[in-house]
Amino acid sequence: MVSVEQVMQALEQVMDPEIHRNIVELGMVREVKIKEQAVQVTIALTVPNCPLQGTIAADVERAVTGLDAGLKPQVTMTAMTPQEKERMVSKLRQSRKEPAHQSLAGQMNKVKSIIAVMSGKGGVGKSTTAALLAAGLRKQGLRVGILDADITGPSVPKLLGVNEVPVMGPLGIVPPLSSGGIKLMSINLLLQEQDEAVIWRGPLISGAIQQFWNDVFWGDLDVLLVDLPPGTSDAALTVMQSLPVSGVVIVTSPQDLADMVVRKAARMAEQLHVPIIGIVENMSYVICPHCGERHEIFGKGRAEEMALAFNTQFLGQLGLDSELTRLSDAGEIEAYSNPDVERVVAQVRDTLTA
Ligand code: ADP
Repeated sequence: MVSVEQVMQALEQVMDPEIHRNIVELGMVREVKIKEQAVQVTIALTVPNCPLQGTIAADVERAVTGLDAGLKPQVTMTAMTPQEKERMVSKLRQSRKEPAHQSLAGQMNKVKSIIAVMSGKGGVGKSTTAALLAAGLRKQGLRVGILDADITGPSVPKLLGVNEVPVMGPLGIVPPLSSGGIKLMSINLLLQEQDEAVIWRGPLISGAIQQFWNDVFWGDLDVLLVDLPPGTSDAALTVMQSLPVSGVVIVTSPQDLADMVVRKAARMAEQLHVPIIGIVENMSYVICPHCGERHEIFGKGRAEEMALAFNTQFLGQLGLDSELTRLSDAGEIEAYSNPDVERVVAQVRDTLTA
């Protein structure tokens, strides 16, 4: 028969998938009870119903049966008490060298790339493109987050069908997950009234955005997409200055004065030493549902020409598609794709650091 000590030792092999410490060290193993072959393990999660609890349970079961294949592990999940959380946080703090004033989330997040999505004006499909990029990269297995910094338009939570209020975990605010597994943070998720934030003033917004970067426990991400406020003036600039952005994707439409947008964006990017990844032209064409012919109803866009002039990539065109509007309205934009979207996603992916 195994002992509780042996089980505890085995559980030291189980790592919390986000915090990267073993669950015994983190104080997550509340209790181990052994009754003949049955091994009951109670795990206290840092956040109730943490989306990774299935992984942790499977790892615990594997660790127990690793001791003896005949053992029957039974894993029960519960949530940490405030005292347990405090103990864990102070332990993590002790083991880190960063100054105490920096949030634990800020210290522990590992975000490889931050891509800001920008446009010259509202309504060109910037949020839509940001969500499509996130969904496409996620489908390729990347760990993806979206920081919604655009409070003016229909918000990214709506496109992804997320309306959960984010909870406060011991390490920081826990971003809710979309059905496809995209982590999402938006002012809109924190407000009672959906359009309340529209009256916020610039400094309040930039403070909130800064907090979304510093105090949200994003964990490990391959890419964080930032849906910037529309325009290339102060609001977008402040957000860009608040975060260590790796590159910018510009979204235009054929109706835009693309030259001006791209010129301003390029100047801003240069000032901040952030490269422009490329330009996406949205609403470029519509396919006639009857004859299947492609119509450039707004005339020919100039995005490709601009990309060339500014020495950046033309990432491709996206068509106006009622199916995309329908899925966006239903909160199911992750279900949308077509070869044009895939091409844009592939090009953006190629620019990400491995
Ligand atoms: P922005 O973020 O630039 O303000 P949105 O992404 O919110 O723009 O898009 C504005 C509106 O246009 C939304 O209703 C969206 O569903 C719709 N839309 C955007 N791109 C397309 C497209 N390619 N096909 C159909 N509808 C689109």
